[in-house]
Amino acid sequence: MLMKYYEIALPIRVEKLYVYKTEEDIRQGCRVLVSLQNSFHTGIVWQEAAKLDENLKYKDILEIIDENPKISHNQLQLAQWLSNYYQCGLGQTLAAMLPSGFNVQLQQQVIKIADKPFLDSDGTPELILNQLSKLNWLNISDLKKKLNIKATVFNSWLEKLENQHIIAIKRVYDARIKEKLANFIILNRVKEILQLTEKQKAAWELIKQKGTEFPLQEIVDKVSRSILKALENKGILRIEPREVREEYFIIPSEQKPKKLKLTDEQKEAVHKINSSIQNDNFQTFLLYGITGSGKTEVYIRVIRKCLEKERTALMLVPEISLTPQLVERFYNAFGQDIAILHSHLNERQRWQQWNKINSGESKIVIGARSAIFAPLENIGIIIVDEEHENTYKQDKTPRYNGRDVAIVRARLSNAVVILGSATPSLESWQNVGNGKSILLQLTKRPLTYELPSVQIIDLKKEEDPTTHFSAILKEKIEEKLIAGEQIILFHNRRGHSSFVQCISCGKLFQCPHCEISMNFHSSSQELICHYCGHKIDLPRKCPECGSFMFNFGAPGTQQIEKHLHLLFPSARILRMDSDSTRRKDSYDSMFERMKKGNIDILLGTQMIAKGLDFANVTLVGVISADIGLNIPDFRAAERTFQLLTQVAGRSGRGEKPGEVIIQTYNPEHYAITCATRQDFVSFSRQELELRKLLKYPPTYRLARFLFAHKNEKYLRTQLVKNDHIIERLKKLFKPENLFVLGPVPAPFVKLQNNYRYHIILKADSVQTLSRSVNYLKENLKLGSTIRLSIDIDPYGLL
Ligand SMILES: [Zn+2]
Ligand SMILES: [Zn+2]
Repeated sequence: MLMKYYEIALPIRVEKLYVYKTEEDIRQGCRVLVSLQNSFHTGIVWQEAAKLDENLKYKDILEIIDENPKISHNQLQLAQWLSNYYQCGLGQTLAAMLPSGFNVQLQQQVIKIADKPFLDSDGTPELILNQLSKLNWLNISDLKKKLNIKATVFNSWLEKLENQHIIAIKRVYDARIKEKLANFIILNRVKEILQLTEKQKAAWELIKQKGTEFPLQEIVDKVSRSILKALENKGILRIEPREVREEYFIIPSEQKPKKLKLTDEQKEAVHKINSSIQNDNFQTFLLYGITGSGKTEVYIRVIRKCLEKERTALMLVPEISLTPQLVERFYNAFGQDIAILHSHLNERQRWQQWNKINSGESKIVIGARSAIFAPLENIGIIIVDEEHENTYKQDKTPRYNGRDVAIVRARLSNAVVILGSATPSLESWQNVGNGKSILLQLTKRPLTYELPSVQIIDLKKEEDPTTHFSAILKEKIEEKLIAGEQIILFHNRRGHSSFVQCISCGKLFQCPHCEISMNFHSSSQELICHYCGHKIDLPRKCPECGSFMFNFGAPGTQQIEKHLHLLFPSARILRMDSDSTRRKDSYDSMFERMKKGNIDILLGTQMIAKGLDFANVTLVGVISADIGLNIPDFRAAERTFQLLTQVAGRSGRGEKPGEVIIQTYNPEHYAITCATRQDFVSFSRQELELRKLLKYPPTYRLARFLFAHKNEKYLRTQLVKNDHIIERLKKLFKPENLFVLGPVPAPFVKLQNNYRYHIILKADSVQTLSRSVNYLKENLKLGSTIRLSIDIDPYGLL
């Protein structure tokens, strides 16, 4: 038979595809099992190999797992685009797109087939043979564990025994995640139920209430086996094993959706989007609506239109906004055929959700970043809520941006994209200007709730510079506490203080692995590196000079909390930051307590900046608007504007008017003044001008090459050797088309014991960017121990 050769994508950190052979025909997108350097991988067939190297011996495909492709053509096209654009191998790209349940597990089994004596023996084969029988296959992995022989010795003996036909080895593969089965009660459709005893009748009433299909476990305490058997014999129900679906999200009680009346602006937005859906047109919309203007209601209406057209819908939200409140709203609008994908799902839950979507059972998917790869067919709409959020950017390979992938995926499926935000990213705003996207605006809150009134406090003018609370903020908190209203205080720095320094000799306590200052945490009396998590006890005295006096840096939430307790001893205060919310459910419990009015003051980091909607919150205070403004990052002003606008929007969401107080040392900074008016348009005008001047996005496109190594000297010499490559690259383009910075030390030059240098490319077009990135990739020659990561459209440059 004719041999066929296929290029296979493997989930490993190598960019190329590997070629394997088989006699079978396999279609693109099917899974196969292959071996590479003594380990087994689940690979995905990419295409028939176009060219073969005659000097190479190609290995066999061990197993063909799927007869029909498990990945749609559309998904494969998307993988191809991601791989090209984000400079990442196809195998690694597909691994990021697919749940781990996609991989199969390989089990090797062994059996004895002859009783021949084995010569040339030091006793090892006897040890192995003693464990084997001629009747049962034994898992090799179990045998290995039992015998405690060195793996290489063990493997070579197995090979010899197999060659002498004393043992036989077979491979079996199995789904990595197996179905979990349990007995279910399933009600039959019967017209009439006759002749039940009293006990049977009572049981039947109970069962009916539970639904038409549910686990037996749920009533096993209340209804006896014999009664169930009797009901089964009467043909009313049957008991069958079914797959157990794990609960992955609280399923809210079903309520009748409230009939909301749309504002004129909402109506117009819905109308425009719906006509694109009607015509199956690829089109991007930017839905720019101030906080509380009812974007979600627009989403619900257009998804409904999409379902009417028998197409499916995908909505991305930042992980932190994927709250029970949001999910509840969609369940109420659409019933329960919604799949939810978030990062707290375990492997099994993720796999179950994936299959539910793949089988067409779920027509709507809501999820965080990676949900953009959900296997929906015939997608009609993709919504990216809070499209400006940097959590859509993945910080490991492939370093994709979920929002940008959404646009590409929609284009491949002739779908509509809605990017929603109260503070659009400058990238999306620019796309409106150049005609790639249609702007839809919501400038009013429905139900005539007014925007909160905002006051800026200039901290330079405060009499007591040591306090964290200005006189006005203190007074306002007091006032709201007396009125029984709730307060949200925002402070975007966790821990107690940002650094600890010796007053006498100036020693700054830095993380030994990262060379950045360690934050003091008062609850545990520890210094913690917020980058790598390294901890040490707060020293009693300075290790350099022996002094007992320390200077503590800028205050974090723990310190603010302590002061709050002193100032308002009877107030019920809750702190929310990543230190206080280690547990998964603490966010939900905060939410419930706020809703019930069991908290007076909620203090927190950006974790509380968005999504919270409590009618009784009438005051939002920003302790220091300057955190984040001074970070050496070109997006610092944009992020500050976004955060302040979001957090201010938490106030006055009910009938009572809201107030916002912002404390700052930079009262004239445009990011702050524009945020107080929720004035995105003037903010963007000023910010875009600056970006253009400094050659930053969205005017220019960025790419970053980050090099890391344990030895700084080695890293530097290796980079210096490549200087001529950089010089040549610069000559390939005009200076106004391409700007090359570096190689220079990154702002965080040492993180987790690795020294970090980078090259930043600024290009005036996508084409220039990709040409220059490819040039560097092909020509840079570096030692193999240097780790290079390429980031296209990077978010952080630190
Ligand atoms: Zn000292
Ligand atoms: Zn560290």
